Order: sequence, then structure tokens, then C-alpha cells
Amino acid sequence: MSGCLHVIGGGLAGLSAALAAAGAGRRVVLYEAGPACGGRARSYEDRQLGCRIDNGNHLLLSGNRATFDYLDRIGARHTLAGPGVPMFPFADISPDRGADLHWTLRLSRGRTPWWVLDPARRVPGMRLRELLSLVRMLRAREGTTVSECLSPGMLADRLLVPLSISVLNTRPEVGSAMLMAAAMRESLAAGGDACIPWFPRLGLSESLVEPALARLRAHGASVRTGCRVWGLGTDRGRVTRLVLPEGEQVLGAGDAVVLAVTAPVAAELLAGPLPGLALPDSFESILNLHYRIALQDHLGGDLARAGFAGIVGGIAEWVFVRPGIVSVTISAANHLAGRDNAAVAAQVWTEISRVLQPALRPKRQADGLVVSLPHDAPPYRVLREKRATFAATTAQQKLRPGSRTDLRNLVLAGDWTDTGLPATIEGAIRSGKTAVRALARP
Ligand SMILES: Cc1cc2nc3c(=O)[nH]c(=O)nc-3n(C[C@H](O)[C@H](O)[C@H](O)COP(=O)(O)OP(=O)(O)OC[C@H]3O[C@@H](n4cnc5c(N)ncnc54)[C@H](O)[C@@H]3O)c2cc1C
Repeated sequence: MSGCLHVIGGGLAGLSAALAAAGAGRRVVLYEAGPACGGRARSYEDRQLGCRIDNGNHLLLSGNRATFDYLDRIGARHTLAGPGVPMFPFADISPDRGADLHWTLRLSRGRTPWWVLDPARRVPGMRLRELLSLVRMLRAREGTTVSECLSPGMLADRLLVPLSISVLNTRPEVGSAMLMAAAMRESLAAGGDACIPWFPRLGLSESLVEPALARLRAHGASVRTGCRVWGLGTDRGRVTRLVLPEGEQVLGAGDAVVLAVTAPVAAELLAGPLPGLALPDSFESILNLHYRIALQDHLGGDLARAGFAGIVGGIAEWVFVRPGIVSVTISAANHLAGRDNAAVAAQVWTEISRVLQPALRPKRQADGLVVSLPHDAPPYRVLREKRATFAATTAQQKLRPGSRTDLRNLVLAGDWTDTGLPATIEGAIRSGKTAVRALARP
């Protein structure tokens, strides 16, 4: 590869592509439309809450090989936090249950799933024959949905359905079983060592973005934030110009482009140069709620050790306890589009109070007060990422393009390209590396 590599989009796919190319000695310019890089995985100062928050909670698993390789390349593995073991605290707060049920899924470390034999480590109420759901999922063919693979029972209700909603960001009735299986092959089916949960200790940008930018600058790459690429000029099957805010950038003969923007933006930019190119066009939202409350020093038990818990039977799905903040994730949240923020925040606070209260240590403060949760929601911020990911349905899966295009010097990257995985950090990072490799091949 010679010439300059122009990377359009400073999300994790773009950063991964830029790092792969700059690390191999290529000149790189990265163009990011927003004021900062990170895309859908970013941190920012929230004036209303008076603190820094992530746009949404992101969970990584130790089996995310490309992500950990990326973290090692940018020297940021140590910025992650987590329990260090494959444990997942859960609570079932279904209204039809007499009382809330709390348990912790504790996977055995190796490939053999010994944990399923131990009632104290597995999902309460599950029967062993329900494990057939996993077998059916791993053997699923194109067109099969997650729901079609599931045997009714507690394994589905308390683990596989919640897991598939958060992994696919799509309801199981329409979610692709093949995509879910691809994620499971690299996690649950690979054993507990591949399922150790990790999340950024301080924030997404501190772990995944800022160290990458520092490494890029050390390689001499140029990063231009606030620089939206408005169009691509082409001539005889090549990209020859980028339309930038200040005018046109003419590409040299050896220059190439990695288009690492979102699917809707890629569709717009490529409509002229590649008419007829079909890309994913249906999306699901994720709703995140951040409550300004400092509970991290008042919790005990598995929730405190893990730093998060899964919730079954409410609208809240995961709760994360961070310094000064309690954050909640609701995936596949298109169904909440019509509900106002105050109503959602009040309902979710009631739900997570039932998960947090039992974990509160009855410690007396210096002023003699016992810590307890406020009845009403503390100050909060609701963030709705309307197009958080493409809908991981069997129909959308067919629309995911590979990295190569009919333009010789343009390749695609992004979690929506055909990574073989659902729209995840791991998929985005892999797509960036794949795109750069594709350019190197004639
Ligand atoms: C709330 C939320 C929670 C999530 N939780 C998880 C999780 O727990 N685990 C997990 O693995 N994944 C999770 N994901 C998914 C993960 O964040 C994404 O898969 C990943 O960040 C996508 O990276 P990307 O680079 O493909 O796209 P993006 O991050 O969207 O990057 C595209 C970039 O291109 C820029 N851009 C757009 N148009 C232009 C233009 N014309 N010129 C220049 N730049 C442009 C955008 O500003 C953006 O920065 C979550 C996503 C959300 C939204």
C-alpha cells in the first residue's frame, strides 16, 4: 500500500482502521464529523447532571479478541474494570412473582459447562433439557429467529431472551438466530474464560477513544474532528475527490478511502457513485438512563463485586453502578419511543430500587443516618440513541455488505458491514482491520 489512507468516520471502526494502517507505516488522515471521536461509544460532560457520562453502558466480554488486541495496541487494557471472573448477578422482578428473586450466574472457566449441573450457579428454575435451545441456536440456518430455537422455560425467560435482546438489540421473535449463535460461539459456548465481563472504569472515551487518538498521533496520523465529508467524487472506478467543509480534497494516485460512517450516511454518500447498493435500513434504539446518585461505597455482595446486574421482568435490563452514577440500559427500545422521559425514569427507578436495595449495606453514616434509596428518582438524564444498531433480523442480515466495493480504492467498515457478528464493538473493530487488509489485496 502506498499513498495516503483517508478514513471517514471516527467511531471504533474508523479508529481501528486508522490504527491498523498507521501502525503499518501508512500516512493516515481521519475525518470525523462530530466535535469528538467515538461515535456511538463516547463519553461527554453532561451539564444537567454536572458530571461526565457515557452515551450508553457498554459491556465487553473477555472473548472479544479483536477488542482486547485493540486495547493492547493502544495500551488501555488497564482502564477496564470488572469482577475478574465470569459472574453475572441477576434479579427477577416480574410482577406475577410473589417476591423478587436474586441470583448470580457463575460460569465454570473451561469449555465444559459444569455450571449447568450446579443449581447454585445456574439459572434458578431451569431444567437441563432446556439446554437444547442452545444446541438449536448453534445449528440455526439462515432465516431462523431466536424465538424459534427456544424451549419454553426459565433458561429462556431468565437468560436467553434477555441475553439475545442485549446482544442483538432486537426482539427474539424477529432476531436472527445465526447472528446470536455467532456471538455465542465466541462467549457462552467457548466457556467461562471467554465470558468475563469488563466495562470502562472511567468512561468509553477514556478507554477506547483517547488512547487510540494518542497512538495515532504518535504514528504521525492527522485527526480532523468537526470535519464532515459531504460527498465523494469518482472517476473511472476510483474515488478521486472528497468534498470537505472547506472545499475539495483531491486524492493522489495511490490514495485510498475507508468509509467508516453509519449505514444511513454510507447509503447517502454512495447513492451517486454506487447506485443500487443496498445497505441495512432498519434500526433499533437503545435507551440509557443515568441517575446522579453515589451508591458505589454503600453496596455489598455480588452486585458490588460485579459492578452491574441484569434485570428480568421489568423494562430495565441492566443496571451499572459507577462512581456517582447509576446507569440503566434498555435495548430494542423502539417500543418506548412514545413514552415520555419522566414516566420512564420513574418506572425504571422503582424497578432498580428493588435490585439495589437488597445490596445496600446497612452502614451508619457519620451523621447517624442509615443509607437508603430515595423514594423518588434522583436527578437523571435519559439518552435515546434512535439508531443505536441495525435491527439484527434475518432480512437485514442479508443487506450487510462486505468491505470491498466496485470502487477500487474504497472499502467499507462499520458494525453494519458483514462482520459475521451482531452490531457490537467487537464487530466494529474487526471491520476496520478487515477493510485495511482488503485494500492491501489486489
Ligand atoms: C447505547 C448503546 C449501547 C451499546 N452497548 C454495547 C455493548 O454493551 N457492547 C457492544 O459491544 N456494543 C454496544 N453497542 C454498539 C457499539 O457502540 C457500536 O457497535 C460501535 O460503537 C459502532 O462503531 P462504528 O465505528 O461502526 O460506528 P459509529 O460509532 O457510529 O461511528 C461512525 C462515525 O462516523 C461519523 N460520521 C458520520 N458521518 C460522517 C461524515 N459524513 N463525515 C465524517 N464522519 C462522519 C460519526 O460521527 C461517527 O463518529 C452499543 C451502542 C449504543 C448506541
